[in-house]
Amino acid sequence: MPSPSCKQCRRAGEKLFLKGERCFLPKCAMVKKNYPPGQHGNKMTKRMTEYGMQLSVKQRIKRGYGIKEKQLKNYFNKVKNKAGNTEELLLQKLEMRLDNIVYRSELADSRRQARQMVSHGFFSIGGRSVNKPSYELKAGDEIKIKDSKLKKTFIATKIKSASKKDAKNNWVYFDYKEGVIKVLGVPGLRETGNSGGIQMVIEYYSR
Ligand code: SF4
Repeated sequence: MPSPSCKQCRRAGEKLFLKGERCFLPKCAMVKKNYPPGQHGNKMTKRMTEYGMQLSVKQRIKRGYGIKEKQLKNYFNKVKNKAGNTEELLLQKLEMRLDNIVYRSELADSRRQARQMVSHGFFSIGGRSVNKPSYELKAGDEIKIKDSKLKKTFIATKIKSASKKDAKNNWVYFDYKEGVIKVLGVPGLRETGNSGGIQMVIEYYSR
């Protein structure tokens, strides 16, 4: 039975990494069936218009970060008139969300799982409990796994697994001995490996 998450990737035409470890294995649907879902998916050769491409990229970015249209538009509105590179500023809004940083720390297998951990009150920041996935972090922030949660088998397993993984980025560091995720900096456009298409989102909202 095809997973709804994997169908999203196939529709987007690229890996959105929604299923944790499975996304890195040969059984990933984007490895086995790299074409749109549906009976005639593998015969589709439709050419997209520029608008269609912008729309499709915007959908991909929303699905990848697990956010709604309104949130993405709000982020765009917040950065559009700011000095600096709008592409980079928009990407930073997405990357500095609490759910994304938990995912980037390797503590969660997917952004969806990270979001659940945040919503279920696993973390505190500056001594205060935070359960809002969209909470915006800044360089220097520290996200602590609450002591009450550290005793749970689920989180102990996650910490053990994260401790064995190599760091994949240089702006988030997970101190697994202390149970603290440290935000070391703010990523630039190229560092996230996820910048492709942000320009199209900007073009879409600027129409
Ligand atoms: Fe499924 Fe993950 Fe592969 Fe996407 S990247 S198709 S969610 S296994």
